Amino acid sequence: MPWDSAFPDLGGACSCSAGQVSHGASSMSYKETFWMACDSTEQLRAEYGPFHTRAEAEREADKLGFGYLLRYEHVIGEDDDIKEVRCIFIELQPQTTRRYPEKLHTRCATCGASGVHDYQWQAEVWADIHEFEHSRHRVRLFEQTRAEGLKEVPGWRDAWI
Ligand SMILES: [Zn+2]
Repeated sequence: MPWDSAFPDLGGACSCSAGQVSHGASSMSYKETFWMACDSTEQLRAEYGPFHTRAEAEREADKLGFGYLLRYEHVIGEDDDIKEVRCIFIELQPQTTRRYPEKLHTRCATCGASGVHDYQWQAEVWADIHEFEHSRHRVRLFEQTRAEGLKEVPGWRDAWI
C-alpha cells in the first residue's frame, strides 16, 4: 500500500510515543518508512512531508526552521493492511538549524541596493556581481531566522574567501 492511501488513516490521533519498542512482526510482514519535518513533539505540531529519505526531510526542516524529524514506520501484514504504525521523533542538532537561516538578505552599505536569497552561495554571487560592477561598494549580509529576526553576519566576505 503506498503511503498516500495509508497516511489519512493516521489523522491527528497518532498517539505513539518516542522510542517505542518494536513488537515482533511476523516474517510475512514488511515495513514502510517515511519521514516528516515537524516543529515540535506536541500533539498540535505542524508537520511537513512526507519524504522518502531522512536527508530530504532534514533539508526541508532546515528551510522551515523546524527542529524535529518524525520517522513513521508502517508494518504491513500479509493482506497489505497496516498492522502497526510507529513513529519516532528525532531532534535535530540546533547548529543545523542555525546554519540554514530561512532567508539571507544582502544590502549594500554604500548605495543601499538589496537582495533576498535562499542560500549562502546566492548571496555570495549577488555580492560578487554588485562589488564587481560598483567598485568600493561594500555588501553586508543579514541572516533571517524565525527566532531572532534579522541579524548581521559580520566579516562574512572575509570568511568565505
Ligand atoms: Zn552598492
